[in-house]
Amino acid sequence: MNILFVGLGNMGLPMALNLKGAGHDVLGVDVSSGVLETAAAAGLLTSPSFDGLTGFDVLITMLPKGEHVAAVTDGAYGALRHNALHLDCSTIAVADAQSQAEKAAGAGVRFVDAPVSGGVGGASAGTLTFMVGGEASAVAQASKLFDVMGQKYVHCGNVGMGQAAKACNNMTLAISMIGVSEAFNLAQSLGLDSQALFDVMSTSSGQCWSLTSYCPAPGPVPAAPSNKGYAPGFAVDLMLKDLGLAVGSAQSNDVKAPLGEQALALYQSLSEAGDGGKDFSYVIEALAGR
Ligand code: NAD
Repeated sequence: MNILFVGLGNMGLPMALNLKGAGHDVLGVDVSSGVLETAAAAGLLTSPSFDGLTGFDVLITMLPKGEHVAAVTDGAYGALRHNALHLDCSTIAVADAQSQAEKAAGAGVRFVDAPVSGGVGGASAGTLTFMVGGEASAVAQASKLFDVMGQKYVHCGNVGMGQAAKACNNMTLAISMIGVSEAFNLAQSLGLDSQALFDVMSTSSGQCWSLTSYCPAPGPVPAAPSNKGYAPGFAVDLMLKDLGLAVGSAQSNDVKAPLGEQALALYQSLSEAGDGGKDFSYVIEALAGR
């Protein structure tokens, strides 16, 4: 396919390179000249704008927020052929995805929301999980691309339901990371070794991804950010954004989410303390007052 890929940051560039590696024609666009230089050095064809571009089969966006997605599509939709596919892999609000789908329909473009889980490591390895919302035939068309960039996709329902799944997943992730952090801090104060607690919890009912893949205490999981000075990984500010989307949706739908709200407040205070760029597992240090 002939793919226009917009947003070549930490996630977008490796995803675009995987598509190119699978034989697709990929043109990358970004507003940052530094990012474009890095992408070109990695072998991707790039452009700083949509001027003069036409006839693309697919637009993929991997941008920070809904407002960025809305801003780029003014120009990007003009570069697509009629009935082309817009696959938005950014994490944005459910309502933003739904209004983007209306804008796409007005421009003769089929819209699918497909936020991801798996982080920069998953983007590079092509092992992302896609949470997908959209019409079945459009999702079927996109599935060939999910297979290149990821190892699994789940069609969650109509447009917006991919974003709904992402918000639910990441609210759970934030809460579980705080829970695991509290447990390791308690263990330390009781004189219980971190490795011993890990060995117990990883085969007990406290087992979860925050423990086994991303253990916030240094030691038990060598690849975890806790062993790299809490370099991200998944930054506090990105988790804060996702919690804002999840808690905002809960509030506007009258759903009680007291732990989601607590998690939001905790990550907000980490960000305000200047730690927004650290990995979200750094919450263990903040809770311990270190
Ligand atoms: P990033 O900040 O590294 O990359 C975003 C890129 O978009 C940047 O290169 C920026 O220059 C570019 N950009 C911004 N506005 C633009 C515009 N108007 N036109 C063209 N380019 C523009 O962010 P990221 O970590 O790659 O995350 C992208 C999305 O993926 C976010 O929505 C994030 O929440 C989501 N996500 C990230 C992770 C992760 O681990 N980093 C994991 C899952 C989901």
